Formats: sequence, structure tokens, C-alpha cells
Amino acid sequence: MNTDFRNADGRLVVDRMIAVIHENKSYLSEIDGAIGDGDHGINMDKGFSLVEERLAGKQVSMSDALKTLDRTLATEIGGSMEPLYGSLFRAMSKAAGDDETIDVSTVEGMIDSGYEKVVEIGDAKVGDKTMIDTLHPAREAIRSARAEGKPLAEAVDEMIAAAEIGWRSTKDMIARVGRSARLGERSRGVLDAGATSCYLLLRAMGEAMKELAH
Ligand code: ADP
Ligand code: MG
Repeated sequence: MNTDFRNADGRLVVDRMIAVIHENKSYLSEIDGAIGDGDHGINMDKGFSLVEERLAGKQVSMSDALKTLDRTLATEIGGSMEPLYGSLFRAMSKAAGDDETIDVSTVEGMIDSGYEKVVEIGDAKVGDKTMIDTLHPAREAIRSARAEGKPLAEAVDEMIAAAEIGWRSTKDMIARVGRSARLGERSRGVLDAGATSCYLLLRAMGEAMKELAH
């Protein structure tokens, strides 16, 4: 079991994110349909399909694949997720940068700066029923796993577990930002779409990292 993997070998991280969005396209729109406008799966799948086309047959590092993801999502998917996911992946790509190997502290840096960017742009707080409810606990978990010197696989498992709890917690929340906020009390009782896609993406990313470091 390794504690890191080569950035140059890391495009699997993005390939797995593409796959999970394809698989969950209808599910994401269904969730968004309950308290939003039902386009989240379509928006996300459009972006990730474009990324799939753009990366096809290319040899790219994890950082470069994330950069393609950023550029595509930031301009071509529409909806409130466009700037948010664009910035998330740009921050992640920058944090990994030219690093030759990706280890727990790189992953911590990626999640940390991604989280900071999304907060900076969207100004959502934990409890507002957004992707932040997934990202914040994920960031706390990877931070403490790194501080405790946990190996990559364990740190990533803890990050995924924390993200899942955060994602599920959105069900009982009232939406305070974004389109569904106008529903007030009626937004309670269903999961948040952005928190859902964010959990699926972090899980896909983490599982790919574990596989690469194996
Ligand atoms: P739209 O709301 O324009 O239809 P999407 O359906 O693609 O866009 O995305 C909806 C998701 O965006 C919500 O479920 C929520 O998680 C997320 N979101 C909206 N506004 C914010 C914000 N200010 N900060 C973080 N996430 C947000
Ligand atoms: Mg929507």
C-alpha cells in the first residue's frame, strides 16, 4: 500500500468523476426537481460529457485533467453551479499544481482551497442546504486525518464518510440560499442537489485516489 501516487498517472480521478455524473444524471435532476428547477443532472452531465470528449485519447496528469474540468464547467454548464464548480476544480488543480506526487497533504490542500473558493464566491454557510454542507465536513476530516499522519487510503475514507454525513444532513435543512430558498419551510424533507453531486464527486475522486495509491 503506497501513501501517494504520481500526478502524471492521476487522470483516473477525473475519469471516475465523469462516470459517476453519467450514472447519476437522472437522479440529480430528480432531486433538483423536488425543490429546484430540475436541471442539475442535465447541467452537470453536459459539462462532464464535454470534458470526456476533450480528454479522449490524451495523456494528461491529474492537475491537467482538473484544469480541463474547471475551464469547461466554469463557462459551459449554466445554472448556479457554473461558477461554483468551476472555481472548485480550478482551486483543486492549482493546489496540486506541478507536484510530481500526490499525497495526503496535497489532497488536503486541494479540498481546503476548493472549499475556500466556493465560500468566497457563493457565501453559503454550513446549514444553508448547499454543496457546502458536503464540502465543509470533508475538509475538516481530511485536515484532521493529515494532522494525525494517516495514510492516504484511510484519510480519504474518513473524508468520504464525513462528506456522506454532511450530504445526508441537508435533507432536514431549510434552504437559505439559491433557487430553493424561496420555498422556505417547504424545502425541508428532501436532499439538496448540489450537496448530492458534490458528495458523489468527492467519493469518486477519493476512490480513484485509493486505487492509484494501491
Ligand atoms: P440552479 O439553481 O441555477 O438551477 P443547479 O440546479 O445546477 O443550478 O444547482 C443547484 C445547487 O446549487 C443547489 O442544490 C445548491 O447546492 C447549489 N448552490 C446554489 N447557490 C449556492 C451558493 N451560493 N453556494 C453554494 N452552493 C450553492
Ligand atoms: Mg437547478
